[in-house]
Amino acid sequence: MIEVNNLTKEFGKLKVLRGITETIRENEVVCVIGPSGSGKSTFLRCINLLETPTSGEIYIDGEQINKKDVDINKIRKKLGMVFQNFNLFPHMTTLENITISPIRVNKISKAEAEKSGAELLQMVGLQDKAGVFPASLSGGQKQRAAIARALAMKPEIMLFDEPTSALDPEMVGEVLQVMKDLAHRGMTMVIVTHEMGFAKEVADRVLFMDEGMIVEQGTPEEIFGNPQNERTKNFLSKVL
Ligand code: ADP
Ligand code: MG
Repeated sequence: MIEVNNLTKEFGKLKVLRGITETIRENEVVCVIGPSGSGKSTFLRCINLLETPTSGEIYIDGEQINKKDVDINKIRKKLGMVFQNFNLFPHMTTLENITISPIRVNKISKAEAEKSGAELLQMVGLQDKAGVFPASLSGGQKQRAAIARALAMKPEIMLFDEPTSALDPEMVGEVLQVMKDLAHRGMTMVIVTHEMGFAKEVADRVLFMDEGMIVEQGTPEEIFGNPQNERTKNFLSKVL
């Protein structure tokens, strides 16, 4: 579903991605772990074309997305992205946050968007928060609303960049639970996370990134139970 071939990204002289080759299959849940600054966010942002790759190719559903004349909006519709800091629109209610893009971009009727918006709010456990503004939501509620907003565009793939890192500890679980539900529904997901317990439980595969490369990848059992690479071992010894 996502195929990345020898992807590099440089910011000036800084080589942030140094040749990433990876395939993510339909329905797969892939967790990306690794030290801060290793290029995890840049990798996700390249997949979503929030960053322009320096070289290499990215294919989604067999179509190369990083070449001239590509309809970026069409590609972006396939991808939902959830960020660390929620990025909800502060002047809109929870429900409006969820319906704005389906109405404006997908040209869905307001009534229809509100109907599926209400279902999504139900799914993330915010059915009683439709009419409130983000300022009155807790961090965990905001992030669940942000997930619902991404899902409202009916993406084929969900990308998460440290979705629980900005949350107070007691709110991490409720967000991870929503993500688990999504995984069980068969959503294809790429999740950058520091939640090793979640990765162990939910990931089909774990990618360990360091210094702009995928140094090691495997099942959670392989990566957490029997890491082969010294850098993976060293990283896990600090976080587990
Ligand atoms: P991670 O998500 O693993 O912490 P990032 O992908 O955010 O890593 O960053 C990798 C490196 O790229 C870091 O050294 C960071 O400072 C640098 N970087 C990220 N974005 C930019 C940018 N827009 N301009 C310049 N340097 C950047
Ligand atoms: Mg990051």
